[in-house]
Amino acid sequence: MEILKKILVVNCGSSSVKYTLFELASEKKVDWGIVECIGLPEAYYKRQNVNTNEKKDYLKVANHREAIELIIKNLLDEKVGSIVDTNEIAVVGHRVAHGGVKFSKSVLVTEKVKEDLKEYFAIAPLHNPANYAGVLAIEKMLPGIPSVLVFDTAFHQTMPDYAYMYAIPYEYYEKNHIRRYGFHGTSHNYVSRMAAKMLEKPLNELKLITAHLGNGSSIAAIDKGRVIDTSMGFTPLQGVVMGTRCGDIDPAIIPYILKQYKNDSDTFLNTLMNKRSGLLGISGLSSDMRTIVKAIKSGNKRAKLAFEMLCYSVKKYISAYYGVLNGIDGLVFTAGIGENSPFVREKICSNLHALGIELDLKKNNVISNEERLISSSNSKVKIMVIPTNEELMIARESKICLYKCK
Ligand code: AMP
Repeated sequence: MEILKKILVVNCGSSSVKYTLFELASEKKVDWGIVECIGLPEAYYKRQNVNTNEKKDYLKVANHREAIELIIKNLLDEKVGSIVDTNEIAVVGHRVAHGGVKFSKSVLVTEKVKEDLKEYFAIAPLHNPANYAGVLAIEKMLPGIPSVLVFDTAFHQTMPDYAYMYAIPYEYYEKNHIRRYGFHGTSHNYVSRMAAKMLEKPLNELKLITAHLGNGSSIAAIDKGRVIDTSMGFTPLQGVVMGTRCGDIDPAIIPYILKQYKNDSDTFLNTLMNKRSGLLGISGLSSDMRTIVKAIKSGNKRAKLAFEMLCYSVKKYISAYYGVLNGIDGLVFTAGIGENSPFVREKICSNLHALGIELDLKKNNVISNEERLISSSNSKVKIMVIPTNEELMIARESKICLYKCK
């Protein structure tokens, strides 16, 4: 029997490792799963493949290395595994949160690349060290198999300086690399390419706004396949209102809060702005849009306010980027909320007729996992829902990097 080569995609979060195994040639997904709550008593391992149903086990998993050992062992399992030999894996693609200014595209891992990656630990302290740990663990478990790093920030590296600079003294950019980087790049990249396919036009003839609306959310202005601006900034905290992040606020609020609460610990502020704000902070109820929508239907006023704030902030970015791009051909909704909430899409697109943005309410209400057009026939702008697929994009990038270096 012919052994088909595979691509393993690994996504190490601060306390989780997600993986997907694809067939190299067909890009078919063959095995996938997640190790969650690493280092905690409630750690578990959930996995599934094309031949087995989902299985979940609570196990002790102390760190990212143990999580990856577990995943590789399971992939090799005689009964439920998907590979017979690790050499079936042609390449491993790693999602990396922050590539700073050094990485404007995906790269094959070398000793130098690993050293460079460490430079960005301070900018992304929760994610980059975990990504790095993942690379080391893969090297140990799969010696000789190439690894590729695919950065969340890379797609946004085409932004012009006047869009990525902050108007603080220039030396903070020079010495501390403080600038806008943008995130969710893999998702914006994937959906913009899919939009071009849907519109049957080359990407380099299109002006698009892509709205990745999930627990974390960002908007991107894309001209001819190049990002011109994006709503997330130096970190994923900036931009629109999110599940638990505040998005844009007046920076003067920060020293004011510090003074009022006499608490200048990093943790206090970081937790407040990253974990206790957004939908959760305003509603006092949940960061989950499904819960917010249910609560609105039963008359919860703060849930309604949180919902309206989120939609309004997205609408403002869409309108601003419409101006930045001098008109657009397409508006794309993606990620958990963007793909699944007609209610949110309707609110965001309401009263945008002046920009040629008009929904077909019937099409908007269709629940589907497929990419689809939801604009009315009068709408100048094509409005699309495109399910994102960051894993597949990472697999494709890894394949390209692998072939380039051969
Ligand atoms: P993500 O970070 O892309 O996984 O998206 C998570 C967000 O998507 C959460 O706020 C979920 O509540 C939201 N979401 C998922 N399904 C739905 C749905 N059917 N309706 C509204 N929001 C949804």
